[in-house]
Amino acid sequence: MSKGTLYLCATPIGNLGDITARCLETLENVDLIAAEDTRQTLKLLNHFEIHTPMTSYYEHNKREKGNYLIEKLLAGESIAVVSDAGTPAISDPGEDLVKLAIENGIRITPVPGAVAGISALISSGLTTGRFCFEGFLSMNKRQRKIHLEEIKTETRTMLFYEAPHKLHATLSDLCDALGEERKIVLARELTKLHEEFVRTTLGEAVEKYKDEQPKGEFVLVIEGASTTEAETDCTSLSIEEHVKMLMDEGMSEGDAIKAAAKQRGVPKNEVYSVIKKK
Ligand code: SAM
Repeated sequence: MSKGTLYLCATPIGNLGDITARCLETLENVDLIAAEDTRQTLKLLNHFEIHTPMTSYYEHNKREKGNYLIEKLLAGESIAVVSDAGTPAISDPGEDLVKLAIENGIRITPVPGAVAGISALISSGLTTGRFCFEGFLSMNKRQRKIHLEEIKTETRTMLFYEAPHKLHATLSDLCDALGEERKIVLARELTKLHEEFVRTTLGEAVEKYKDEQPKGEFVLVIEGASTTEAETDCTSLSIEEHVKMLMDEGMSEGDAIKAAAKQRGVPKNEVYSVIKKK
């Protein structure tokens, strides 16, 4: 028996008109829909009068559910993965299932559509030629610190996701790491009634949201460091000075070695051997 196909179906990020004809056709024709939030997806399916069976696939059941879905695919069933909104596997479940499916020789087919980050980037007015997706800043203190360290010398435009109740803390941390003058575009409620773009600097954004309660969903688009800014930041320092500076900022030696290597664009071992020679 031939194996089934795993379809990665992007759904709208706010405006139902953004569903594609191919997504509707796929959702109608697959044997099963694996949804991050079945209640949310049911609304979408009801709206478009689609009656395909559905099962849940989300962060906390992805291990067992992943194996269950793979068995079905191996038995010849076709499955569509959908997240709450937007493109599966982008800050949403799907990534692990794709890996597992590939290991099992299952065909993957993307059914592309809305992604919040790309919609924000193309409307931002910042450089789109080279950009990087940074997702959410971790709530884990150590990981957050490493992430903020790593982006200090990033020259590409950066895309971040954030929840409204964490926006101010995130803006403050980004401002401390990248400086008050750095340009930022806050893309809010994309494709929805209250869609808005705030084009400002990190310093002003921190001020704006100090007292104002942010509402809705946000993508933060941040300009990259200028090449000279990025170069002076680390190449003016020796490897020892660089690692010491990071440790003075509170990192452990191991984390500082990792971050310094990334910032200088050299292998970790190179930094490690200089530090351990001391
Ligand atoms: N998979 C989705 C995608 O393709 O963009 C992202 C899911 S992630 C769990 C949710 C985050 O995406 C939100 O916290 C927000 O940062 C961003 N987001 C989703 N919809 C948005 C919208 N309509 N406007 C602005 N940001 C949005």
